[in-house]
Amino acid sequence: MRVFKFGGASVKDAEGIKNVYDVLQKVGYEDVLLVVSAMGKTTNALEEVIKNYFEKSEELNSSVQEVKKYHNQILLDLFDDEKNEVFAAVNTLFSELEYFLAHNKSPNYNFVYDQIVSYGELISTTILSHFMSFMGIKTQWLDVRNFIKTNSNYRDAEVDWELTQATISKNVKKKMLNITQGFLGSDENNFTTTLGREGSDYTAGIFAYCLNAESVTIWKDVPGVMNADPRYFENASLLSHISYREAIEMAFYGATVIHPKTLQPLQKKEIPLYVKSFINPMLAGTCVSKGSDSEWQIPSFIVKRDQLLISLSSIDFSFIMEENISEIFALFHQFKLKVNLIQNSAISFSVCVEDKFENFKDLNPILSKKFKVDFDENVTLYTIRHFNDKAAQTVEQNKTVLLKQVSRETMQIVTKEN
Ligand code: ASP
Ligand code: MG
Repeated sequence: MRVFKFGGASVKDAEGIKNVYDVLQKVGYEDVLLVVSAMGKTTNALEEVIKNYFEKSEELNSSVQEVKKYHNQILLDLFDDEKNEVFAAVNTLFSELEYFLAHNKSPNYNFVYDQIVSYGELISTTILSHFMSFMGIKTQWLDVRNFIKTNSNYRDAEVDWELTQATISKNVKKKMLNITQGFLGSDENNFTTTLGREGSDYTAGIFAYCLNAESVTIWKDVPGVMNADPRYFENASLLSHISYREAIEMAFYGATVIHPKTLQPLQKKEIPLYVKSFINPMLAGTCVSKGSDSEWQIPSFIVKRDQLLISLSSIDFSFIMEENISEIFALFHQFKLKVNLIQNSAISFSVCVEDKFENFKDLNPILSKKFKVDFDENVTLYTIRHFNDKAAQTVEQNKTVLLKQVSRETMQIVTKEN
């Protein structure tokens, strides 16, 4: 069996869904499991619904209607006959959602979030599977919540591999097109859970692992994994082969194409992962597999913007030692600063962090009691895998370099744009 994942951007309108059909015609659909995300920006739109719900906002109803209208337009573009049962099926899902909003009594934000946000995937897969049947493909719609079992850590649930393995190997039928939802699971009490934003790739990885799949393909609007973001680098080129290890390293440094969580189960069973273009499905794209790492020795660039560079030095010239460092890290963790680079000397300690929640202003006074604190805001962290002089020059030109760190395979440079 092959596992295909289509993300939100690939099914954002009727054209996108028709294109999924075209891709399947070209690459085959027998013995395939499709994992599909919510259409376009639906997850964000449902997050807005959740926000309105908790704030008891007047906009609640209109925000739900917006999601409805969006999907309804897609239905009208895909099916000319409003009597097609897909209209009723999608309607039922919206009724369920509205029933939940009207009757829920749980004050648990994360629980409520998962119960609501999951409709994005339930609706998208319902539309997709009706369309594929309508076009004559024998399709089975699977409710992923019967397969992926998790704990009750809503919004970031952890997979129960044993239970999941048992249900998947028993119930996924071969020799047809299976369609299921990315991102979702269910807990012991059968309440819906989610695997974290952008979790659909991980779903594909979980199924592939449990089915001993032949391969996973993530269909994207780019030709594959590039060595740099073409928006920021001229001459970005496609990496045709990368090893699991390299892909995990790249994800660690902030490359967003493949999530490391997705790679782990695949690597364990050596199932290859392809990243391919849904616009040009016959192109080879990128293959992530076990294998020789020779070809990707060209430099790869990963850019993280809006970083904060903090330097701490001891006030009395005493050394910054283990106990200081562990205390500093505990504080970063507590204030949800994500550390992306560390450099220390005897009396000073520098870190490049991401301050997503803007907590540094509260942390700074605490740190200042013990250390002299210097910081630079809005800096950029460049990571170059397999660097060479030319690659470093490309990054450094016209910028002020604040910090540079070099290890065997990786160079990291923190810069301030001039
Ligand atoms: N729809 C979910 C999200 O946008 C899951 C995914 O797209 O992977 O986060
Ligand atoms: Mg999405």
